[in-house]
Amino acid sequence: MKKKIRKTLTTAAGIPVPDNQTSLTAGKRGPTLLQDHYLLEKLAHFNRERIPERVVHAKAAGAHGTFTVTNDITKYTKTRIFSKVGKQTEMIGRFSTVAGEKGSADTVRDVRGFALKFYTEEGNWDLVGNNTPVFFIRDAIKFPDFIHSQKRDPQTNRRSDTMQWDFWSQVPESLHQVTILFSDRGIPKGIPYMNGYGSHTFSFINAENERFWVKFHFKTQQGIQCFRQKEADTIAGEDPDYHTGQLFEAIERKEFPRWTLKVQIMPEKEADEYKFNPFDLTKVWSHKDYPLIEVGILELNRNPINYFAEIEQAAFSPSNVVPGISFSPDKMLQARIFSYTDAHRYRLGVNYERIPVNLPKAANVANTYQRDGFMRCDDNGGPGPNYEPNSFDGPVEDPDYNEPPLKISGSADRYEQKRGVDEDYIQPGDLYRLMSEDQQDQLISNIVGSLKKVPVEIQKKMIVHFSKADKSYGERVAEGLKSL
Ligand code: NDP
Repeated sequence: MKKKIRKTLTTAAGIPVPDNQTSLTAGKRGPTLLQDHYLLEKLAHFNRERIPERVVHAKAAGAHGTFTVTNDITKYTKTRIFSKVGKQTEMIGRFSTVAGEKGSADTVRDVRGFALKFYTEEGNWDLVGNNTPVFFIRDAIKFPDFIHSQKRDPQTNRRSDTMQWDFWSQVPESLHQVTILFSDRGIPKGIPYMNGYGSHTFSFINAENERFWVKFHFKTQQGIQCFRQKEADTIAGEDPDYHTGQLFEAIERKEFPRWTLKVQIMPEKEADEYKFNPFDLTKVWSHKDYPLIEVGILELNRNPINYFAEIEQAAFSPSNVVPGISFSPDKMLQARIFSYTDAHRYRLGVNYERIPVNLPKAANVANTYQRDGFMRCDDNGGPGPNYEPNSFDGPVEDPDYNEPPLKISGSADRYEQKRGVDEDYIQPGDLYRLMSEDQQDQLISNIVGSLKKVPVEIQKKMIVHFSKADKSYGERVAEGLKSL
């Protein structure tokens, strides 16, 4: 058999390394010489291997895939990704837990991130959603406080049921998401077995420059499957990376997970008359009012070759929308347009969009006048002009991409969030009532299992909220706590 010729090991500067096992010492018993620059480089680089962990969504699995259009929705949007039935677009997905750190267990009760990057020919479209259609808060000014309540106690350095329920008990708009989190769907059996949602209201713009409001739903074709608390706890101890391994191995076996993308569409003007604010992230749009319309199929079909390069360095941002898809007045979405790009600049550096996994795949799509900055590793714009306007054929703006004007009215103010108004209880109540008996039993048992660990004053506040959603919901939690 012909011997495979292996490459010579080198320093980062390409200098051949004579010995990777023994450091250079003065005499047989040392000490080590400072002159051993290879040893110094090896240790120094190792010290710098960790980049800042994402403050939320640190633990994740990811894979590459394909999106295929199955239904014509061009009357709503001119976006190229949906331009033709049968059209395929490459994408990458990253699926995370929210509160745990990078080494935390996968099978915990937590919302899951469902972040997708589609490499379209008009730039990258990132849909940075969750496995739930709503969120705990509707105003981003609360976000750092909310996340602090989910993270570690400042003194004990442990996660705290009291901190979580204390926050939720004083923020009634969170009840809808809390009900989903403690329902049977709070611990998915795996990434293939959960739905994904864009969660926010976004907008579509069609070729006639008409605007529609849109919600995105990725419905799992594997069927929803979930763990009960006890099973999940056991697996968390036995194999903390259960979901990560399960996705990787399924793709290796060519069992490619698939989701059907569906959208709900609301004509622009109907937003003013809808029964509640359609830009409120704590609410869904009823399927009866806005039925789901099929768009296409998302398939994950290729594992990363290198996790750090392709998944850890993947930078998703709700600001990455492409022509034909845009934002809405959703306050949480508006804030995320800032905070994701800001996080990536902190985490990966100012040139994070030039990292291969984040680069648009179509040729000549990214043409900017951005230059220099840490870790600029491409040709940095070569000899081309670095200012605009210029007379040297540099890229120019194209007014065809202007969106139709969006009418906004009102006086600038900090509009009080009315807390505990009936409206906040309608949808959690609807959800409770549509659950089967077994689902309701699980919900109550999961809530009681956590709420029993918190001070009685906080329990009482929560029982009021549950009761406002549905009398029996509150009564059953109260009974559950009493019977302990
Ligand atoms: P529908 O009866 O048309 O839809 C009910 C939805 O609830 C279905 O999408 C179903 O998902 C989902 N669902 C069932 N069990 C759970 C659970 N434990 N956690 C989360 N979702 C669940 O009703 P409406 O559109 O009028 O909505 C009623 C309630 O359903 C809402 O208040 C909301 O809580 C919930 N819901 C609504 C969604 C929407 O976009 N309208 C989306 C998700 C939830 P599936 O079909 O996959 O089983």
